[in-house]
Amino acid sequence: MKRSLPELSVIVPVYNEAAHIARSLRIIADTLKSIAASFELIVVDDGSRDRTWEQLVKLSADLPQLTTIRLSRNFGKELALCAGMEHARGAAVIVMDGDLQHPPELIPQMVRLWREEGFEVIECVKENRGEEAAGKKLGAQVFYGLLSYLSGYKLQGASDFKLLDAKVVESWREMPERVTFFRGMTAWLGYKRTTISFSVPAREEGASRWNLFNLIKLAVQAIVSFSTIPLRLVSIIGALFLVGSIALGINTLVQKLQGTAVTGFTTVILLLLLIGSFLMISLGIIGEYIAAIYHEVKGRPRYLIADKHENALAYTRDETGDSGDAFAAAALDR
Ligand code: UDP
Ligand code: MG
Repeated sequence: MKRSLPELSVIVPVYNEAAHIARSLRIIADTLKSIAASFELIVVDDGSRDRTWEQLVKLSADLPQLTTIRLSRNFGKELALCAGMEHARGAAVIVMDGDLQHPPELIPQMVRLWREEGFEVIECVKENRGEEAAGKKLGAQVFYGLLSYLSGYKLQGASDFKLLDAKVVESWREMPERVTFFRGMTAWLGYKRTTISFSVPAREEGASRWNLFNLIKLAVQAIVSFSTIPLRLVSIIGALFLVGSIALGINTLVQKLQGTAVTGFTTVILLLLLIGSFLMISLGIIGEYIAAIYHEVKGRPRYLIADKHENALAYTRDETGDSGDAFAAAALDR
């Protein structure tokens, strides 16, 4: 028996989605079944604390295309995605959320653009961000504005809903960083790309699995890994301070010699506070880059896999060349 590879790999990272995951995955699988001769659905359970994993194991009994990977703890969506990317074997890989906020209806259009028009990266861009707190919308705007100013990558509206050709996935795998920012990394890769816009539907169940702290952490990681301009800003601000201090220094000396030196500490205190704050912030910025270097040089694995289920029969081909896909499709119809 030798393995045949699926045409499409679909990667779905999930965290605490037990309430709806079986239904959502069935909807995704139905869409795939209608367009692809063969596909694999790789669901990465990012250390869920509810019954998500049990649901997945149960589902894999009647969804032979399902490969389930359980990470040893919650590593965050970025790393769950990495785990999926490293296991995908399809000629094209689609990455999407498990809460149906990335509408599966778009998949046929993405696949058509890839198959017929030869695009290698198809990105779905958020036309509007759906129902989201005003603060989160504003935060996203500030973050993307800052990122585009600092790194030149215009990711406004970018989502992690993408189709990547196998060669793009191959190049992506060559990026060795431990701290990853999927959207930015795929933008960096280049290749022949196009976009599809979509409006984000309401979440299938519950609230976003991201909290403010996670989002700020992701934003800082993204900026640190895509731009060194903040480091230069430290030097530029330092230079401006130098110019200011020369002017103020001359002024002070002249006043001293004329005998009209100011009394009181107001200027001194203000300068101290101002310079103190700039120094601290500058140290903080440098610290972020040192932290990033530290995380990279430690060279720890990006994630750990606790459990993996793969339906061995789903993509096998016997010596006569008969594809196992017929078996897979028949099993799915049950
Ligand atoms: N997710 C994950 N690990 C996490 C947080 C989220 O795998 O630590 C998954 C989540 O289950 C979902 C996707 O990432 O499939 C997007 O998360 P969510 O819908 O909560 O985020 P939002 O839609 O607000 O961006
Ligand atoms: Mg969501």
